[in-house]
Amino acid sequence: MLKNFDINNLVRPNVKDLKPYSSARDEYQSTGTEMVFLDANENPFQTDVNRYPDPQQRNLKAELAKIKSVSRANILLGNGSDEVLDLLFRAFCEPGKDNIVTLPPTYGMYKVLANINNIENREILLEPGFQPNVDKILRETDAGTKMVFLCSPNNPTGNSFSEEKVLEILENFNGLVIIDEAYIDFSEKQSWLTKLQEFPNLVVTQTLSKAFGMAGIRLGICYASEEIIQILNKIKPPYNVNELSQQRALIRVLNLDQVNSEVTDILKQRELLSKVLLEIPFVEEVYASDANFVLVKVDNANKRYEQLLAKGIVIRNRTTQPLCENTLRFTVGTKPENEKLITALKSIN
Ligand SMILES: *Cc1c(COP(=O)(O)O)cnc(C)c1O
Repeated sequence: MLKNFDINNLVRPNVKDLKPYSSARDEYQSTGTEMVFLDANENPFQTDVNRYPDPQQRNLKAELAKIKSVSRANILLGNGSDEVLDLLFRAFCEPGKDNIVTLPPTYGMYKVLANINNIENREILLEPGFQPNVDKILRETDAGTKMVFLCSPNNPTGNSFSEEKVLEILENFNGLVIIDEAYIDFSEKQSWLTKLQEFPNLVVTQTLSKAFGMAGIRLGICYASEEIIQILNKIKPPYNVNELSQQRALIRVLNLDQVNSEVTDILKQRELLSKVLLEIPFVEEVYASDANFVLVKVDNANKRYEQLLAKGIVIRNRTTQPLCENTLRFTVGTKPENEKLITALKSIN
């Protein structure tokens, strides 16, 4: 276990000393009784969205807390997980001074956010099998390393990281371990959310963009200790999740049966697609996936990508990513979409 973990040693001094903006809706919350709101310079005429949204998204957080078995105080919501990740950089990483560790091939936003925030990004390639090299990660971290990003299931490889390896990092790295679980709902592996109480340095991010089918509303979720959430709350824009997104997200999370049935369907399609892909002559390897996409090694990724594009099918060419030479990433679509893909793949040579 981490003996001297203290979040106050990680947070940027200016953030620690910051007095956050207090919005009208922070200072007074509706109690449901008939009140006259003349505090926020809103237009009083009804449009359904003439009022500012709840800056703390209480209704949505209450429902998420219930379905994820965490406390509301352990949740921060953002305009997509991209905003959540950016808030983590801005709260904990001093520009031009601190560094982070990422494990390519992985989600491209960590690197972009590091660049935007002028934070050194120490890249430590995954090992064959796309697993983290724990010894190297721990060797490369120093007092300036504020965060290690683990994406599990990983994008674009689709695999989950070994539980022992993640544990070893959590137990030995004295900064924040961010586990990006954007694809966790497609996996049979347990979420790291269950370990939140155990590890004060654990941050889990999830999103409504993938399994929940709500990429358009931009709703990202951060789960962490109350102390970490309080710090992020200090620096987040007051109204970062708009009213329409809060409403639509709530409707969706109240309809888990529908989400689960879509996930079941996607998983069935993933297994089918993975099997049929193996029969395509120019396919060399189909990597096992815990997500809603499949990474595939082919003979010539650029050529196959262009051929599919010409047939009206857009996939992701990952050939320039480290360890991903000549790979393509296929998102699992509906049954008819996947059938179109298979027909197209069988027709090109
Ligand atoms: C798609 C994806 C996200 C989602 O980001 P949003 O901003 O919530 O849409 C986050 N992390 C990874 C690894 C992803 O692939």
